[in-house]
Amino acid sequence: MNNNYNLPRNGKERIVIIGGGFAGLKLSRLLADSKYQVLLLDKRNFHQFQPLFYQVATSGIEPSSISFPIRKVFQKYKNLHFRNTEVLEIVPSENKVITSTGDINYNYLVIATGVDTNYFGNKNIEENSLSMKSTAEAINLRNNILESYEKAILTENANEQETLLSFSVVGGGPTGVELSGAIAELKNHVLPKDYPELDFTKMKIRLYEAGNRLLNGMSDKSGKNAQQFLEKLGVEVHLNTMIHDFKDNIIYLANGERIPCKNLIWSAGVSGRQLNGISAEAYTYGKRLQVDRYNKVCTYNNIFAIGDTCYMETTSYPKGHPQVAQVAIQQGKLLARNLTNTDWKPFEYKDKGSMATIGRNMAVCDLPGVKFSGRFAWLMWLFVHLMAIVGVKNRIFIFINWAQSYFTRDQNLRILIRPFRKVVA
Ligand SMILES: Cc1cc2nc3c(=O)[nH]c(=O)nc-3n(C[C@H](O)[C@H](O)[C@H](O)COP(=O)(O)OP(=O)(O)OC[C@H]3O[C@@H](n4cnc5c(N)ncnc54)[C@H](O)[C@@H]3O)c2cc1C
Repeated sequence: MNNNYNLPRNGKERIVIIGGGFAGLKLSRLLADSKYQVLLLDKRNFHQFQPLFYQVATSGIEPSSISFPIRKVFQKYKNLHFRNTEVLEIVPSENKVITSTGDINYNYLVIATGVDTNYFGNKNIEENSLSMKSTAEAINLRNNILESYEKAILTENANEQETLLSFSVVGGGPTGVELSGAIAELKNHVLPKDYPELDFTKMKIRLYEAGNRLLNGMSDKSGKNAQQFLEKLGVEVHLNTMIHDFKDNIIYLANGERIPCKNLIWSAGVSGRQLNGISAEAYTYGKRLQVDRYNKVCTYNNIFAIGDTCYMETTSYPKGHPQVAQVAIQQGKLLARNLTNTDWKPFEYKDKGSMATIGRNMAVCDLPGVKFSGRFAWLMWLFVHLMAIVGVKNRIFIFINWAQSYFTRDQNLRILIRPFRKVVA
């Protein structure tokens, strides 16, 4: 067996897991003391807590508070190994993974690579818009927001100023709703103090959604309440509105309208990450890997897929599961159980509810049997997200940041840092 990664030779069967997100990390931890040698591969050396990206983008919390080094999680386990590498290809006929740092063989392979932003094939939108699918992108968004204001203050051209000050968010799911709300809070409470020379009545925050409601995955009531909260904060919500193109700082709407815009944030969809070497038949809707009820990729015997990247149909979810953290965690948990037992159990998703926050004291919450919104929902959102963060230090830091901004109505982290690489002649 290929052992390029200098792993201990202990005669154990090897499980290679690709991706240390919610699904892969849960699975690795639960297999820590098992009969397998577990190797986790990730192109990042940290786990990222995606639900709070929008707070990094709007200067609410530090990127390090929502990132957790994978090696720290693995410190106490002898049987868990991590390699920081990008998987380039799978060779199922040889049970081999080809990575940017070498090849490695597996007995079982688990693909937990999550999803990417889906631009629906529009290259202009892909090149010109901003997205928020990684910590790096969230920092980039933060920089763009701050840079826009620094540029706006330098220009006397009223139209240019309005274009620089305004933000358009595409996609009325939780990401779009939470981000628009957070930008509105910045506009209402923070930015006018930093830039007293600017006229903030010119700052428009527009949220575009192609469907006829917000938060499609939640109840009608929550969708309507979220819209009301956003409008109260000053966000223009445009339902039934498709973005056709975005170039030269102009949004082209499908109805022919053109909107000048410098900052377009795209959160309108995701699609799976197709891995070279995995047969095309294994992929289905949204480039997701079709799996059976045991998360086994249908065309292979020893390859599994869990989390956002997989597609599983059940009686309760005939069109696949929602791409949310709880599904990923529960699939990771069950696969760990199945791989270490002889009686395999089929996956059944236990929906614990969903929630989205819009602003201070404004959130919507759908729990099994009860739907509510407002302050209590907001407090519940804070508590649930705080508890879900990996690492005690991160929880404490986030709590301090939240408490501080609650009482001061300020966001302290408006720091513009661009990576700088010194060119050596
Ligand atoms: C902005 C945003 C907000 C969200 N808010 C919520 C929310 O409020 N509640 C909720 O439940 N869900 C939310 N989600 C969805 C949730 O984050 C996902 O459902 C969850 O992360 C899926 O977990 P996963 O393990 O499948 O994938 P991920 O967590 O995406 O992990 C995938 C991992 O695979 C690694 N990887 C990918 N390709 C390779 C490769 N080729 N080689 C090596 N490593 C690779 C990546 O680096 C990453 O670490 C949000 C998502 C986003 C983007």
